[in-house]
Amino acid sequence: MTVTKGKIGIQTENIFPIIKKFLYSDHEIFLRELVSNAVDATQKLKTLASIGQVKEDLGDLTIHVEVDKKKKTLTIRDRGIGMTADEVEKYINQIALSSAEEFVKKFKTKTEAEKNAIIGHFGLGFYSSFMVSEKVEIKTKTYKKGGKTKAVRWECDGSPEYSMEEIDKTDRGTEIILHIDKDNQDFLEEYRINELLNKYCKFLPVPIQFGTETIHEPIEGENDENGNPKTKEVEQPKIINNTDPLWKKSPSDAKDEDYKTFYRELYPYSMEEPLFHIHLNVDYPFNLTGILYFPKVKKDYELQRNKIQLYSNQVFVTDSVEGIVPEFLTLLHGVIDSPDIPLNVSRSYLQSDQNVKKISGYITKKVADKLSEIFKNDRKGFEEKWNDIKIFIEYGMISEPKFNEKAEKFALLKNTDNEYFTFDEYKAKVENIQKDKDKKIVYLYASNLDEQYSYIQSAKERGYDVLLFDGALDPHFINSLEQKFTDITFARVDSNTIDKLIAKDEEAPSKLDDKQKESLKGFFEKNINKEQFEVVFENLSETDMPATITQNEFMRRMKDMEAIGGSPMMGLGGLPDSYSLVVNANHPIVSKILTEDENRQDEIIKQIYDLARLSKNLLKGKELDDFVRRSIQLVD
Ligand code: ADP
Ligand code: MG
Repeated sequence: MTVTKGKIGIQTENIFPIIKKFLYSDHEIFLRELVSNAVDATQKLKTLASIGQVKEDLGDLTIHVEVDKKKKTLTIRDRGIGMTADEVEKYINQIALSSAEEFVKKFKTKTEAEKNAIIGHFGLGFYSSFMVSEKVEIKTKTYKKGGKTKAVRWECDGSPEYSMEEIDKTDRGTEIILHIDKDNQDFLEEYRINELLNKYCKFLPVPIQFGTETIHEPIEGENDENGNPKTKEVEQPKIINNTDPLWKKSPSDAKDEDYKTFYRELYPYSMEEPLFHIHLNVDYPFNLTGILYFPKVKKDYELQRNKIQLYSNQVFVTDSVEGIVPEFLTLLHGVIDSPDIPLNVSRSYLQSDQNVKKISGYITKKVADKLSEIFKNDRKGFEEKWNDIKIFIEYGMISEPKFNEKAEKFALLKNTDNEYFTFDEYKAKVENIQKDKDKKIVYLYASNLDEQYSYIQSAKERGYDVLLFDGALDPHFINSLEQKFTDITFARVDSNTIDKLIAKDEEAPSKLDDKQKESLKGFFEKNINKEQFEVVFENLSETDMPATITQNEFMRRMKDMEAIGGSPMMGLGGLPDSYSLVVNANHPIVSKILTEDENRQDEIIKQIYDLARLSKNLLKGKELDDFVRRSIQLVD
């Protein structure tokens, strides 16, 4: 038996030190590369068998991964097509090497950030095994000639020399034996290999066995005292993957329960069930399958990005999908599998890639169609889900015009009585109440049911409807609605008195004349914080409060924007809080102030000023304490 020796990589410098040293950040992908090679070899064999080119029985095709801590080896063994000596020469010594060389060349010119972007998306292939090994062996026997061809052993110790010899190997297929180097001993730990197989190989289409698991097997004919069969613990080989993941099935073959089970398989640590799913399935003009889940967001919605997993033919590629799916969909969970997404390029290239754009557009459309379908078929169910899905939909509407187009028909507005309306429905409702067509239609809204309670009441007493916008994205959403529907304007219920917000043609008469108002204004200003509150009079009804605090809509929005870091308008220092103290000229207590002595005047004004601040949640600390004490004295 002859041993051939040869030199690989003779044309260029030795790439092994580079592979070892520079690709440290993602060493772990070597396992994905080797296991997917084993899967490829197995799939090829199956294909050959299916077209009659392999006649013999294929036998068990399970791929085995084994750790030998004593010998410090990690072995990946398949029963696929194997290789002849010529094929090893061609595929390993020449082709694989030159593509590894090319990769290393590309890699050397990149910045650290770009390196991280390409590695993991673009494997080195077989040669990635040298990232973690001091020596790599291949033992392989081809399927060709019905197993009568001699098997081959190839070995390379990380220097440019390799050796090849014929060996005795009875079983068809390939065995890759990695002699793990001393810096990478963690790849000899069972938990580590388990973790990696789980991450990269969980849904590969050929069974992969690693380690064992304990199962409880019933003992025949033996029952315990309750009559249940006794069980014994049995160690058996553990298959780590699901070869037939749900997304590969036809949607018509999958039940609701299957989708829930699959969700738990994807996110074993998630407590919540998903709200609903969308099964993606296209093969033209590109190939794409997958399942997207709308997750249930908690009240304080910790939105979790990077939950969607991207696969290429069932091989895990990445779970950071920005640039591949539209921004708002990165909030969804699930899997996308496509061999058509170019993975061997940088992210910036991805974003301008036409295929990626098409895929992105398709996913957006599918999501919109599914939502529209649920809305049409089960409006009530849709309304029940609304609170949970609202954030996704609003985000999509703000950021994705194509989505917005469709979503406008099913997006909902909720009022303070928990009733839901589409935009069209609400428009009709409000136009019916605010009949004056010449005036701009005002959509009243509240952002907090408790804090704006008295203002909401005041609007309802006048027969108006109040929307509830209490979501994190609502301020942006309101802006974008206003830009779109120029004939309406949004006003928060406490931004002015309702009578000013929705002006009537004739103003209500006033019980006070201008002179009386002038002197009252002076009395008020003496008792309040003039910096913060401007005193204005309005002819409200006797049943309204004697005084109310309002905050200009525009100013408040600027402040809100500033708070979320979005306003460049005011620069340093921030905007002051400025309010109006609206005094109800028609309230009996207000007229009464004019007839009292100074002490009593101050007392009444302080009290109604504090009550107004209390209704707006502005009374705090010492001032609140003073108010409480004063009120007790009043009762006494
Ligand atoms: P790629 O998988 O992209 O072709 P690799 O560097 O991973 O590149 O592998 C190089 C080649 O070596 C493969 O194309 C295949 O021909 C051969 N090969 C690698 N692993 C196996 C295996 N387990 N069984 C049969 N052939 C293999
Ligand atoms: Mg490969």
